[in-house]
Amino acid sequence: MHSTAYERLCGLMAAHDGRDALLYSLMDACVLTQRLTVTAPALAAASHVAAFHSQEFIKALQRPPDDEDALETYGLVDDCEVFPGLWNYACAVAGASLQAAALLARGAADVAINWGGGRHHASRARAAGFCFVNDCTLATLHLLRKFKRVLYVDVDVHHPDGVQDAFYQSDAVLCLSLHHWSPGFFPHPAGAPHETGRGRGAGYNVNVPLAERCCDAAYQGVFDAVFDAAVDAFRPACVVLQCGADALGADPIGRLNLTTRGLQACVRRVIAARLPTLVLGGGGYDGAATARLWTALTATAIGEGAEEALPSSVPDHPHFARYGPSFDMHTAPRRLRDANAPEALRAARDRALATLDVVRKKRLAAAAAAARRPPAPAPLSAAARTAQVEVAEKGCVQ
Ligand SMILES: [Zn+2]
Repeated sequence: MHSTAYERLCGLMAAHDGRDALLYSLMDACVLTQRLTVTAPALAAASHVAAFHSQEFIKALQRPPDDEDALETYGLVDDCEVFPGLWNYACAVAGASLQAAALLARGAADVAINWGGGRHHASRARAAGFCFVNDCTLATLHLLRKFKRVLYVDVDVHHPDGVQDAFYQSDAVLCLSLHHWSPGFFPHPAGAPHETGRGRGAGYNVNVPLAERCCDAAYQGVFDAVFDAAVDAFRPACVVLQCGADALGADPIGRLNLTTRGLQACVRRVIAARLPTLVLGGGGYDGAATARLWTALTATAIGEGAEEALPSSVPDHPHFARYGPSFDMHTAPRRLRDANAPEALRAARDRALATLDVVRKKRLAAAAAAARRPPAPAPLSAAARTAQVEVAEKGCVQ
């Protein structure tokens, strides 16, 4: 999903100012945009946003209140301060993810990407963490109109609390997140491993908390095992994949130590599941690192040799100077010790696998119950229907 108008609207939020311009310029320079079907997204209407958000919150986004208390009520303070064009920005982000979901739902695409989306912290009536509208949730709700089960996967460094809360009691959406989790790190305490869902949703929420400076190899070991188990247990009909770039070691958030190659391996695994997949952006506070990551992930999503065709160095283009001093296409890890002990990672992985085993058992029990039910009567043939009508009209003579 892209157009210059959409790029401009995404750039209205100061935290990501210029990020989208860098990304699309780099993708152009790497000859990737020519291999994509680019769709210009339309703005969502308030009625679309209302599929998840409250009317009061929508009104606050449309006409932000004047007084501090009201702004605080809707979370429109600090990192979610009001800015000119806020409502148009929110409708642009929501509209792009909804349109991408619609493409998947009608089979017009196998993979749809909205790098301007992935705003996973916004709740029903409150903005949070640079997220004013929860396009992840809106798109997932849209996909549920077509697909019975949606697997939501989140590799942003922050836990997707807004999405988790939205589907916490649902067995139609399985939320899987790997994130840094420690006291004081947003949105702690949300994201704890014991948050596994409630009611019908018990077992359908999987949190894998990670300690500081997790590196590619450690992350990959957990991601592969947990993602494969989620697909096996839940049998999703489609996937929503939030790819925040702030888990990179090159990001100023600096809590994890992943590289573009590490996250590419995760996305490669998701794409290999061959399910309709909605790929979303998210955090990412170093424009050049984010552009590197999402360019690499776009190539992974395209497949067919696109990854191999990427140049090893950033090609000359209008934003070339932003990529110094290394100019490598891929980011490098920081030289820091990974605080994730192997036994702690194994424990986190095993806990996630145990939760997913609950989901697997529920699915098998539901299938067994369905098999025990007497079969529904087969539809009558045309001849049988005619005979039945004749009997009904003539009466049944004993
Ligand atoms: Zn984040």
